[in-house]
Amino acid sequence: MIKEADGKTRLCGLIGYPVGHTLSPVIHNTLAEAMGKNLVYVPFSVEKDLAAAVRGAYALNILGMNVTVPYKKDVMEALVEVDEAAVRIGAVNTLVRMEGGYKGYNTDYLGLERAMKEENIQIAGRDVVVLGAGGAANAVVYLCAKAGAKQIYILNRTVKKAQGLAEQVAAYFPECPVTAMETRDYDKLPDRAMTCIQATSIGLFPNVDAAVIEDPAFYRRIDQAVDIIYNPGETKFMRLVKEQGGRVINGLKMLLYQGVTAFELWNDVSVDADTCYKVQKLLEQELQK
Ligand code: NAP
Repeated sequence: MIKEADGKTRLCGLIGYPVGHTLSPVIHNTLAEAMGKNLVYVPFSVEKDLAAAVRGAYALNILGMNVTVPYKKDVMEALVEVDEAAVRIGAVNTLVRMEGGYKGYNTDYLGLERAMKEENIQIAGRDVVVLGAGGAANAVVYLCAKAGAKQIYILNRTVKKAQGLAEQVAAYFPECPVTAMETRDYDKLPDRAMTCIQATSIGLFPNVDAAVIEDPAFYRRIDQAVDIIYNPGETKFMRLVKEQGGRVINGLKMLLYQGVTAFELWNDVSVDADTCYKVQKLLEQELQK
């Protein structure tokens, strides 16, 4: 964090409800200090009247905002422009100040893309299983289609949501085959090596002893995987992947890089790898508290 605010300090923040648990101030205040930016990041608890909050932020000359639950979709109506990927995903998590208002971006999918590239978890040319069809899964499935998955399987408890997501992706990426299935039909998946991205909320702290699919037979197919949950640092899903010999990462780097990408958009800078690593270590420390 910068040592002292002065007349030139810029403000960035997070709009959501609730926001008390957020790790974003750790990311952005560390980046501000490391990158020599006179910037402070604070969470704003917005209980209602989202449009007034966005207008107020603009009037207060706030440089940029993150947006979290429950506003990632509704915020689009309060923006002057929305990036094409965010429109296709149907969610905005980053507002960038421009003439007359804010432009919306989705850095969740960009964060996941950076995390997977860094860890060499592959999508291109592969069969990919996405577990979940909620808000986060929208960004995950978009990334899989954009990055050239050979075939995407979306498995969800509520199959209708998986079907809706599959249709949405097919409209933008007609060349990418997407199949929607009920999670309990996982044994109907073809028996070949696959990448799996776990995007449900099952396994999240404090329910750490649960996984969306518990059967080891499912995990024999999974040779590369991501659980986008980062608390706990090792989920039951991750243990099940490892027990069958697969390679798996948690969602901490996705969180890190969605923040880094937002910071880069706000400040028109590129954050170096050493600084990213420093922020990652601080996030890990915070999660151990
Ligand atoms: P969401 O919109 O509420 O979606 C939740 C998903 O989990 C849905 O697919 C839901 O299935 C499924 N689910 C929940 N409870 C279930 C149960 N008991 N049995 C079977 N399925 C169940 O949540 P979200 O915003 O997508 O977030 C999902 C997870 O991603 C959270 O754990 C969140 O922490 C994590 N996340 C991580 C990052 C990161 O940066 N690493 C970013 C965003 C989110 P139904 O559709 O059937 O209800």
